[in-house]
Amino acid sequence: MLTNRINALSESITIAVSTLAQELKAEGKDILSFSAGEPDFDTPQVIKDAAIAAINSGFTKYTAVDGIPSLKEAIATKLKRDNNLEYAPNQIITNNGAKHSLFNLFSATIEDGAEVIIPAPYWVTYPELVKYCGGKPVTIQTDDSSGFKITPKQLQDAITPQTKMLILTTPSNPTGAVYSKAELTALADVLKGTDILVASDEMYEKLTYEGEFTATASISEDMFKRTITINGLSKSVAMTGWRFGYMAAYDTELIKATKKLQSQSTSNINSITQYAAIAGLDGSADDDIAMMKKEFIKRRDEAVKLFNEIDGLSVLKPDGAFYLFVNIKEVSNDSLTFSQELLKNKGVAVVPGVGFGSEGYFRFSFATGIATIREGIKRIDDFVQEVKTK
Ligand code: PMP
Ligand code: GLU
Repeated sequence: MLTNRINALSESITIAVSTLAQELKAEGKDILSFSAGEPDFDTPQVIKDAAIAAINSGFTKYTAVDGIPSLKEAIATKLKRDNNLEYAPNQIITNNGAKHSLFNLFSATIEDGAEVIIPAPYWVTYPELVKYCGGKPVTIQTDDSSGFKITPKQLQDAITPQTKMLILTTPSNPTGAVYSKAELTALADVLKGTDILVASDEMYEKLTYEGEFTATASISEDMFKRTITINGLSKSVAMTGWRFGYMAAYDTELIKATKKLQSQSTSNINSITQYAAIAGLDGSADDDIAMMKKEFIKRRDEAVKLFNEIDGLSVLKPDGAFYLFVNIKEVSNDSLTFSQELLKNKGVAVVPGVGFGSEGYFRFSFATGIATIREGIKRIDDFVQEVKTK
């Protein structure tokens, strides 16, 4: 009854692990979950107020498929203010979360057999959506020795005549790696003279802790033309449930094509979310963003210190996002079994590295309170010492 395409699609492992942790918790088990890619903060009040005002004003009807003009303007202003990128409204479309932006983008650009270069460890969704759209994921493996970043040589070696697109995530989920301007420029040099597109997923932009965030499209005129910028508000202002993401591209035909697909599938995103999103983009929530960022830095520093004190584990200090990608190679080369046993024996949920295309690691989200982080890492330490003496 089901298509081969849907049968070949894997469920999102990040969602699967956090759902399992929630279920075990609901059964009354003592579970500490570090699996969710979701801030534990509430959505800022100024955003909620904008949503309430929208409801009270009756903004509860269908809107333009690509988004209300004031929202698209707010996105254009944000891209200019924060990233020095000049996009007109017809170069922008809003979607039901950045995941939806990616789905629309791949649907519009990936022909059967087209190769998409994906640096690993990668966010779980990329290869699955690429395959679903008929493309072939081509991974470039990185590890802690290169700070989980690809080199220009690796990129060059991965390119074939079938290469359609490169996906870059900065800051990265699951490693928190952030590409510097110099690193992006060096990658851009490799792409010069090709017609390879770049999908730049910048969801964690506002959660850059070290150095300066650089938007991929801002590197050069050449990069501006080939890059599709994907961003949203799920992580920066804790709006995961509201479903808001957007895509900006130089090519107005591409935006038009994704608008056509959206007009026949999901239509406009929730009208109330659109009004709320303006308040998330226009600077009204900047104090809230600063508060969350400060808290994330505190947690990151503490968690990195505690993990590196554990005999058998090591972790790099991430420059952005809210994940640690913890190296377990001294203890295990099977991250799935490691994570399952950790959950069963110690009630601690983490996501196995294999789900992100990199064996020998697990992802630990520090988007949770500091006391929980301390207790969780203590349990992980106990577990690791038990495994080592077995
Ligand atoms: N990109 C990255 C790198 C992510 O981690 C996420 C996580 N949820 C998304 C995109 C999608 O976010 P959303 O659909 O909530 O906008
Ligand atoms: N992106 C988040 C994560 O990596 C949320 C779950 C998902 O959408 O896959 O955990």
